[in-house]
Amino acid sequence: MRKDSFQFLKKLVETPSPSGFEQPVQRVVREEMAKFSDEVKTDVHGNVIGIKNPQGKPRLMLAGHCDEVGFMVRYIDEKGFISFSAIGGIDAHLIPGKRVQIHTQKGPILGVVGKKPIHILRKEEKKEEVELSKLWIDIGAKDKKEAEKLVSIGDPITFSERLERLQGELVVSRGFDDKMGTFVVCEVLRRITEKPLRAAVFATSTVQEEVGLRGARTAAYSINPQIGIAVDVDVATDYPGVDKKKEGEIFVGKGAVLYKGANINPRVGEMLIKIATEESIPYQLSGASGATGTDANVIQISRAGVAAALVSVPLRYLHTPVEVLSLEDIENAVKLLTAFVLRINEEINLIP
Ligand SMILES: [Zn+2]
Repeated sequence: MRKDSFQFLKKLVETPSPSGFEQPVQRVVREEMAKFSDEVKTDVHGNVIGIKNPQGKPRLMLAGHCDEVGFMVRYIDEKGFISFSAIGGIDAHLIPGKRVQIHTQKGPILGVVGKKPIHILRKEEKKEEVELSKLWIDIGAKDKKEAEKLVSIGDPITFSERLERLQGELVVSRGFDDKMGTFVVCEVLRRITEKPLRAAVFATSTVQEEVGLRGARTAAYSINPQIGIAVDVDVATDYPGVDKKKEGEIFVGKGAVLYKGANINPRVGEMLIKIATEESIPYQLSGASGATGTDANVIQISRAGVAAALVSVPLRYLHTPVEVLSLEDIENAVKLLTAFVLRINEEINLIP
């Protein structure tokens, strides 16, 4: 991956963006898209859309959601300890003992999620399921009054983790889901800048995916595309304890994931596979037996229907602060989508 692209990816994942609080990351996206688009729009919902060749045919929407899972301040007790709820799906077992950032009006504040030490845990307590409502954040405040001067009810919270390199092309961060997808759609825009283009391209950084695919729904309505492709992460199954008979076999580092199933327009699905094969771009095949839990779902059933598809990057440890993926898989997703965008024209038949 180019050095400046890597820096952009790092900036995206490290900018806080829990669902409903995406403005800081969307400002970063806007700035990037402005370099490579004919026009950039932010809609009333917060979706940012970089438009290239708006009069072209067909109209193609690419969607990567920019929101990440996180938490929200709900209550501050007399001693200044903070209770919180989840934004999106987070396993409560992950949270105790973690550093978090509370994103206050005056900037981020460090906090820690407290945990009774093993020395004083009763035997029954060791077996207990972790309940989010029983956890608390300690910011080191003296009491409620001091905490309230800094933190307000409703402030969003994220884990503190940042992007770091593992071995080879593997990297770890919180928030790859799905700022990686936003990165891919921006990167595709960059790569088609000087290329001959027949399609109209609407590269969209959608909001509020983690709380019900809400941004893509309104964006798809306003863009009114014929083809809509969501770019998201998929659960890799290449680590201990995963039942491949149930979850299928997806590896980190073996290419982007393409799908067959109800959420995928067969023509677009086949074309993606054909392009990957012809251009020797590695990919993995997966079956999605119903609607996917991605933006592709709401895009497909927008208005009178859209030819939808999904391109995913395999990711280990989804919705944890240590999401792991391969930069090579991202690169392959970008290559495939760039080739797709450059090949399509108004003659494309989307009827299954
Ligand atoms: Zn997610």
